[in-house]
Amino acid sequence: MKKRVGVLALQGDFREHREVLESLGHEVREIRKPAQLEDLDALIIPGGESTTIARLIISNGFQQPLRDFCASGRPTWGTCAGAILLAKEVDNLDRPGIETMHIAVHRNAFGRQVDSFEADLNVRGLEGGPVRAVFIRAPLIQRVDPPAEAIATLDDGTIVAAREENLLAISFHPELTGDSRLHEFFLTIGTPAREPAVEVAG
Ligand code: GLN
Repeated sequence: MKKRVGVLALQGDFREHREVLESLGHEVREIRKPAQLEDLDALIIPGGESTTIARLIISNGFQQPLRDFCASGRPTWGTCAGAILLAKEVDNLDRPGIETMHIAVHRNAFGRQVDSFEADLNVRGLEGGPVRAVFIRAPLIQRVDPPAEAIATLDDGTIVAAREENLLAISFHPELTGDSRLHEFFLTIGTPAREPAVEVAG
């Protein structure tokens, strides 16, 4: 079914995501203002520079609208810098991101000598065999707390993909490989909206 998918277009590789989604027949909107989030079916927060995107999220008034979007149950996917922005805990980001997903992330985790690398990864829930994963100054996921769960790891056990209900965080760049299975998978993970937290008196 054709969906209307937003790609946060403040900085980073939003065009590459756009191309994959369009090749699957979806309508794509580049999102630059919070009001544009309203009538979307799903949202991607792309890779780029997380400090820059975090700054632009704050200066464009996106922080609360993005938190509300995540709570609305619509599929929301952070790739690389986008995964950093979704995390509740990041070890060295100089300002807050969206802070909604129960994961702890370590930025630029793989050091200089392995700035970029590729690996074949099995992703839980994804059919058709492993995906080719491209890592570019990638973060790793240090900890996953319930209800988040790890869905892909490197051979040494390093977590590089996690899911929490309608939220997906992935350290690598599926928009660069010509394999659109993760984009299709992401569009299937919607859930009912979460109830707002109720304060209990006394
Ligand atoms: N190193 C970047 C950061 O910390 C992420 C890299 C990427 O998105 N490719 O924001």
